[in-house]
Amino acid sequence: MSDKKALLSSIPSVDELLNNEHITKLLDIYPRTVLVDSIREYLKKYRESILQAEDVHKLVLSHNSIIDGIIAYVKDKSGNNLKNVINGTGVVLHTNLGRACISPAVIDNLVKISSRYSNLEMDLAKGSRGSRYDHVEEILCYLTKAEAAMVVNNNAAAVMLVLSTMAKDGEVIVSRGQLVEIGGSFRVPDVMAQSGAKLVEVGTTNKTHLWDYEKAIGDNTKALMKVHTSNYRIIGFTEEVKSDELVDLGRKKGIPVIEDLGSGMLIDLSKYGLPYEPTVQEAIASGMDVVTFSGDKMLGGPQAGIIVGKRKYIDEMKKNPLTRAFRIDKMTLAALEGTLKLYLDEQRAIKEIPVLRMLTEDKEEIRKRAEKLYNKLMHSLEDKCSMLLCDDYSEVGGGSMPMHKMPTIVISISSDRISVNQLENKLRSNETPIITRISKDRILIDMRTIWEDEFDIIEEALIKALE
Ligand SMILES: *Cc1c(COP(=O)(O)O)cnc(C)c1O
Repeated sequence: MSDKKALLSSIPSVDELLNNEHITKLLDIYPRTVLVDSIREYLKKYRESILQAEDVHKLVLSHNSIIDGIIAYVKDKSGNNLKNVINGTGVVLHTNLGRACISPAVIDNLVKISSRYSNLEMDLAKGSRGSRYDHVEEILCYLTKAEAAMVVNNNAAAVMLVLSTMAKDGEVIVSRGQLVEIGGSFRVPDVMAQSGAKLVEVGTTNKTHLWDYEKAIGDNTKALMKVHTSNYRIIGFTEEVKSDELVDLGRKKGIPVIEDLGSGMLIDLSKYGLPYEPTVQEAIASGMDVVTFSGDKMLGGPQAGIIVGKRKYIDEMKKNPLTRAFRIDKMTLAALEGTLKLYLDEQRAIKEIPVLRMLTEDKEEIRKRAEKLYNKLMHSLEDKCSMLLCDDYSEVGGGSMPMHKMPTIVISISSDRISVNQLENKLRSNETPIITRISKDRILIDMRTIWEDEFDIIEEALIKALE
């Protein structure tokens, strides 16, 4: 205990620290109040670490370490909480890492629109009030061949708005095999309950027939709903009613048919080697009255919920008070319009929308990038770790194409100097955090989701972690 007392009394005072030349320099960057508060907070933690230490001799304590600690603490505290990370997981649509990276091609306009005034809600031809939805409606209709379109904050809001507008106080029939839960607690039955519509489940988990829907239709049936089971597959003895059959039934009974596509694709990626998934155009062509999908899944744009379909329903949605609560903001609209424009030329979309580029990139292209980074890292780290280039598989993520494994190349690292968990932790705590995978006691950096301009940061972080 006396050791602890001696240590505690050796801690310099705030005033002493403020006179230190390295700390004084920080005043050029940070306000004095911020600096003083940070020093106090740091010293408090420092004291606590001494008090809680079981063996004080194990603590590295010195005047210099306090100064270094304070500098790092102020820097860390004053930096943004929300910051770029390097995604070494290979999961292209990583929900924890912000899902889709927006195309660099649309960023300039996004910055311009958000930092100055815009015609967000002004009809410039008439000089009167306009609608924020007009800016993307035409291109959405052009791309999907739908009659009308609108956008809200995310697809969960889109589904809620659709159900609340079309089926409030009525019944909606959904197959038991499609009552999905999407990460982050979006559950079809819960969203349905919130919207004021009553869920009528039909069929069984693995099989639902057209006559299941037909039998469940009653006087109060307001819609038939299909939900794309994006994040899981039921395989084996299964049956689902095809969209056009469901649409035919709806027409015959005068009931609208809606589809939550989840991950909305505008390009059939099966020609690029990915599994077939129904596109938005196909859903519209099948006769669906209303289709909803996300902006930041396979579409590769900003977070948004896109609704396309028959004009009479979309017009009603625009008047629903929920639309005001779910309304999309101008930054998102700017990014969404820019992303949609890229789809006018499919080759351009594949090249310039990061999600599409990463998903369609073949292993040999990834290998080239991997070799470049590998050579760079070998140059500076050769004697500090064991490093290999290996074949592996990456995932789509975002609850999309759950069974699909994409062949990729990973850089696999281990070192005698540090455990694999410590290395993972150090990389994750880097100033620009690097998120990696651990497999068989090695760190894996999947090159599918690594950008070439991130190589220097990765090299620096590894040098620091293994020094
Ligand atoms: C992802 C998903 C949602 C939720 O979309 P968000 O844009 O994340 O709100 C809803 N339904 C399905 C089928 C989905 O896959």
